[in-house]
Order: sequence, then structure tokens, then C-alpha cells
Amino acid sequence: MISFKRPEKLEQSSVIMETVAVNMMRPVSRYFDEHEHEIPWDYIQFMHASQQAMGGSGSLTDSGAKKKEGPSISFQRLAVTAEMLSWGDVGLWLCTPGGGLGGAAVNATGTPEQKERFLSRFRGDEPTFDAMALTEPHAGSAMPAEVRTTAVRDGDEWVLNGEKIFVTAGHKALIDTKGFVVIWATIDPAAGRAGVRPFVVEAGTPGCSVTKLEHKLGIRASDTASIVLQDCRIPFENILGNPEVAKEKTEKGFKGAMATFDATRPLVAASALGIARATLELLKELLSERGVEIRYGLPRSRMTNMEREIVDMEVMLRSTWLLTLKAMWLADEHKSNTIEASMCKVKAGDVVVKITQRAVELMGPLGFSREYLLEKWFRDAKINDLYEGTGQINRLIVARRILDYTRHELS
Ligand SMILES: Cc1cc2nc3c(=O)[nH]c(=O)nc-3n(C[C@H](O)[C@H](O)[C@H](O)COP(=O)(O)OP(=O)(O)OC[C@H]3O[C@@H](n4cnc5c(N)ncnc54)[C@H](O)[C@@H]3O)c2cc1C
Repeated sequence: MISFKRPEKLEQSSVIMETVAVNMMRPVSRYFDEHEHEIPWDYIQFMHASQQAMGGSGSLTDSGAKKKEGPSISFQRLAVTAEMLSWGDVGLWLCTPGGGLGGAAVNATGTPEQKERFLSRFRGDEPTFDAMALTEPHAGSAMPAEVRTTAVRDGDEWVLNGEKIFVTAGHKALIDTKGFVVIWATIDPAAGRAGVRPFVVEAGTPGCSVTKLEHKLGIRASDTASIVLQDCRIPFENILGNPEVAKEKTEKGFKGAMATFDATRPLVAASALGIARATLELLKELLSERGVEIRYGLPRSRMTNMEREIVDMEVMLRSTWLLTLKAMWLADEHKSNTIEASMCKVKAGDVVVKITQRAVELMGPLGFSREYLLEKWFRDAKINDLYEGTGQINRLIVARRILDYTRHELS
């Protein structure tokens, strides 16, 4: 029997995260939007202490772990956390320590020894960050086929050279904490995608430097860095996956690495839906203060235009949330979720942009004013349609899977 009742543990997570969102995020949301590049240490330290008290980083690096009893819900829990903390403030959510995109790559592709070596730091005394660097100045969507950063083997080391841009939390991972960044580089430029592998570069490694921080439209509490690798030497074992298999120039090693996105795309979708829900709730509250209540029981034809708009937004929001939960449920069941991961990412990117834009429009000058967070959420929304694969790229992934086309047949 299908049950839509959320497990008790998910309910508890949701309540705890709501307390964090209300008390630690909303009060400083505007401040960190207006003070880009200032680090929200209070939030970071609080989250780190909470994660330690709860016995895990509460991040992707905890997911998939075998639970003592009952079905695993760790990916669903991550989605609930991402949604609720992004309801609080998406920029601050991106400043949550302990296992982000880099950790997800290690989790998806690393050997047990690598997982222990790279991820155990998240359980340490200090908050720690990680990042994942795929995008380069000449290409983002065309990655990884167009990777130009090179990794050349020299004895028991790899030597990395290249430049990565738009790396979320790159500064926190490499400069502010003793974290790491997963760098995607090619071991054979002539081999295309088959030559591309993820490598872990630790903070403090000579030859790896952060050269720039972006000034952005939204998610301004989150740092977005450029990283230059210049004869950067890392141990041979820092190639993710079994080194002997990983150094083979076949598509096999590459495909494993792409599993990272099956876990991270639904998280971006959940985060987008958190912004959308925050927006819709505030919109309804502001309308209610002005005497506009939504009469849910009425037939659509007898509703006002405003009521129809709100109801349509709720339909978009709730249906996309169900799709996102399905993608995470599949991950918890260790089933393939590539289609659902891309589908929910596409839908959520659309939904959050539509809802935040319409809310600004419907509230008129108040929507445009900095008095409310509506204009900020409108700015924060757009990134969800860009990172982790743009809407267009995720649509292509879905279409290829459904139609059974290769990337050469449909691009
Ligand atoms: C704030 C922020 C944080 C980011 N964080 C990270 C990070 O942590 N790590 C990382 O590696 N990258 C990160 N990125 C980079 C992001 O993933 C890329 O910007 C994104 O993949 C798009 O790549 P691009 O910028 O090169 O655009 P392009 O690939 O040049 O695309 C430009 C436009 O063309 C469209 N397009 C491209 N190809 C096709 C096609 N075949 N069919 C139809 N349309 C197409 C795209 O959808 C887009 O609309 C971040 C970006 C931002 C803005």
C-alpha cells in the first residue's frame, strides 16, 4: 500500500530544522545578503555543534549509510533539511558545514578507505567545508567532455594544471577551513569524457590557489570561487575510485563519477522548493493582512484571478515536491533515479522562478521593496535553474533516457 504519511523521524527533522531556520537564519538573512563575502560564523559554528551532538554531519556524506532497523530515509531526510533550511535562507544553507558537493562525489565514487580518509574530518572538532570543481572558463554545460584541466602521473603523484570557476564554497573549503575540493581533470585530453576523473585536492596543497570571489545576483551569503592549479602535486591515491581502475581510460570510471549528480540534483530541487514555499507563505500572509483570503472550496470559475493564481502556485509547488521526494526515495532504495533527479531539478527550477517572480509582481511596490524578503527570494531563485546542470541540460538528460538516445543522437 502506498502511504504518503511522513515517517516520524522525518517529521522530527523537519521540526528541528524549522527552529534553526526561524531563529538562526531569517533574522540575519538580509544582513548576509547585503554583506557579501562576510562569513556567517555564528550559523556555521551552531550547525557544526548541532551536527556533532546528533552524531553525524547531516549531509550527503552521511547518506546511504546502513541503518540498524527499518528502511533507509537518509536521502529523504536530506531533502527535508534542504527544503526547510532554504525556506530559512538558501545562501546560509549553502554555508552549512560538513559534506557538500565534494563530499557527495567522494561518497558516490570513493573507496571505503577514501571515504574514511576524506570524510572523517566532518566529524572533527572544527567545522569543515568541501567543494566540487567541474566548470572551467570555456565551458560548463559541455562538461565533462570539454575538461582542459590536466592530471599527469609522475611516480606516486598526480600533477594538476588548469583553472576552475564558479566553485561553490571553494574559499571555505580551501582557505577558511581544512577542507578539500574535488577537481575534475583529464588524464588523457585525446580521450574526451573517457579520460575525465575526479581528484581530491586538500586545503593547503601548494600550487592550488583561490584567485577570485564572484559578486552575485543571489545566494550572496555563499562564496563562489575561482581556483587555479599550477603544478599542483597530490598523492596518487587521491584519484577517486580504485586507482588502478580509475587510471584506465574507459567510460566506466567516468560514469561512476556522474552518479554524484543523482544525489545532488534532487537536493537543489528541494532547496528551490524551500524558497518557493517561503515566498508563497509570505505572499498569502500579506494578502490576508489586506483582506484577501483564498476561498479553497469554491469552483475555479467562481474564484477571483488572485485566488486562481495562488491555487496554481500551490499545485506547482506540491506536485514538484512529490517528484523530488520520489527521486530521494529511489536513492534510499538504492534504485536508479537519474530521470527523476533531472526531472525534479527542471521542474523545481521553473517553479521557484515563476512563484518568486509572480509574488513580486502581485505585491507591486512592496514586492520590489527591500522591506520584505520577496525581492531577495526572487534574486535567490534563478540559480536553481543554472547550477547542477541548467534547465535545458537536464531536459536533454530526461529526453535521452526516455527516448533511449545517445548524447550524439540528441544534443
Ligand atoms: C552561483 C554559481 C555557483 C556554481 N557552483 C558550481 C560548483 O560548485 N561547481 C561547478 O563545477 N560549477 C558551478 N557553477 C557553474 C554552473 O554549473 C554552470 O554555470 C552551468 O553548468 C552552465 O554552464 P556555463 O556557465 O558554461 O553556461 P553554458 O554551458 O555556456 O550555457 C549557456 C546557456 O546555453 C544553454 N545550453 C548549453 N548547451 C545547450 C544544449 N546542448 N542545448 C540547449 N541549451 C544549451 C544553457 O542551458 C545556458 O542557458 C556555478 C554557477 C553559479 C552561477
